Amino acid sequence: ANAVRDRLRIAIQKSGRLGDPSRALLTACGLDWRESRDRLFCYGETLPVDLLLVRDDDIPGLLADGVCDLGIVGRNVLAEQAAERAQAGAPAVAAELRALGFGGCRLDIAVPEDWDWQGPEQLRGCRIASSYPQLLRRWLAGEGIDAEVVMLSGSVEIAPRLGQADAVCDLVSSGATLAANQLKPVLTLLRSEAVLAGPVRPFTDARAALMQTLLRRMDGVMRLRH
Ligand code: ATP
Ligand code: ZN
Repeated sequence: ANAVRDRLRIAIQKSGRLGDPSRALLTACGLDWRESRDRLFCYGETLPVDLLLVRDDDIPGLLADGVCDLGIVGRNVLAEQAAERAQAGAPAVAAELRALGFGGCRLDIAVPEDWDWQGPEQLRGCRIASSYPQLLRRWLAGEGIDAEVVMLSGSVEIAPRLGQADAVCDLVSSGATLAANQLKPVLTLLRSEAVLAGPVRPFTDARAALMQTLLRRMDGVMRLRH
């Protein structure tokens, strides 16, 4: 993790919601790449800034292991990993350096449409399905609510219909997926968007100057977009 390097390595989502806008942002920053045959690693041509195309969930770990220097990932994913490390007493490894203005969503609690929602107290004793167990547990603890967290890595919103849970804590953008599953959002735990994640402490090798260049260009691009 402490190896001296003279190239920056940025992890972005290979496909999915953040893949294309992440590449578009980096392209707008003047970067371009020569793609390898497996299309997992892209070698930077205009600047020594390489891309690694991965699953979004892997990005915090790649940063933690020092495999990548920067990542573009949802704040929700970064926050879940930070909460997990804090819970385990491990030091933070990645900081949110910039909010990037795309991939906007909320981490919401949603309950069956036919519930007469009175407030968080109603969740006491419930089973709540989520892919964000740490963020959910931390919120429940803060509210002083004892509830069971059912960890599901996907298809969270069908859990109530399957009888696996009473409520869900899931990512919501339009709300259409919730509605299709007869659920309604009642509370927001986190407002999220894509963020640039990077080291907690600045680099001390050639990556420091590269990162300054990239951040300066990114700030310029973001200003033009607003
Ligand atoms: P991967 O194959 O990389 O694991 P994924 O299916 O986990 O992909 P996506 O569904 O592409 O991930 O979501 C990536 C990110 O997009 C989320 O972590 C979140 O920050 C953001 N996002 C924005 N709107 C939504 C939404 N409605 N549902 C889920 N994620 C959303
Ligand atoms: Zn994922």
